[in-house]
Amino acid sequence: MNETGLLLRQRGGCAGESRPYAGVELGGTKCVCTLAFAPDRVLDRRVVPTTTPDETLGAIVAILAGWRRSGIAALGIGSFGPLDLDGCSATFGHILATAKPGWRMADVRGTLAAGFDGPVGFDTDVNGAALAEMRWGAGQGLDDFAYVTVGTGIGVGLVVNGRPTRGLGHSEVGHLRVPRMPGDDAPSACPYHSDCVEGLASGTALVARLAGRKVDEVAPDDPVWPPIVHALAAMCHAMVSTGAPLRIALGGGVIDRQPALIGRIESALIASLGGYQAIPPAYLVPPELGAMAGPMGSIVLAADALGAIAG
Ligand code: ZN
Repeated sequence: MNETGLLLRQRGGCAGESRPYAGVELGGTKCVCTLAFAPDRVLDRRVVPTTTPDETLGAIVAILAGWRRSGIAALGIGSFGPLDLDGCSATFGHILATAKPGWRMADVRGTLAAGFDGPVGFDTDVNGAALAEMRWGAGQGLDDFAYVTVGTGIGVGLVVNGRPTRGLGHSEVGHLRVPRMPGDDAPSACPYHSDCVEGLASGTALVARLAGRKVDEVAPDDPVWPPIVHALAAMCHAMVSTGAPLRIALGGGVIDRQPALIGRIESALIASLGGYQAIPPAYLVPPELGAMAGPMGSIVLAADALGAIAG
């Protein structure tokens, strides 16, 4: 995104209003294809199950082909990662070291954008969701913001000074190693790290900790929660001390089922900061777009890609 694209986004403006944006959110279990201008102007929505790259991407290509015949302004793709986001790389647009069978080195961007000569935006699903919350939801008016989803895994979209972080690919805050709560010796759910946030506090980790009990049925004072709160607060502490977001939206399947966790994590975060850094009240909030954050993330990525070209 160039400076003009940034300005367009910060002002909430969208070039190309006469034609809608096509967006694809690729998730670990399902992909959501959206034809829209904005959350309140959705023209079409299709859901494709995530199975094999050939099957799933083939189904999405067919949907996009139909929309393109009617005219779209730009295409946005927000995908699970890790992703190669280096435009100079031979594997730009591919999925990298995922544990998801069959998807390692899948050429997501190249396959979905083939034959489309308009602007294409491509980023992680959570960076897209963060940008969508900044345009239409809990991050409006902010240039520094984070979106966290605690679901099967833990994804974090981190936007600093108006842009998702770059460098060695994209941020992977979910795989940050954090101190375990004293006495917590549960096995990590992450195959790469014995004590990362995703390994200790994701939905996958929670299911293992519950040993057959249902998430909805667990009481707020159940002993399963403190090590999860501890890990998520440590992750937020690291973000306060690095990217320094002005607000953090915290959602995903685990938080949706146990919304009281947000206040507990904020209290633990304040205690963890130890008075060295201050955060404003209601620093941790639920995402305002809810389940629309991901799909609208792909729409924002399309709009930003068009804005960059227009600039
Ligand atoms: Zn990990």
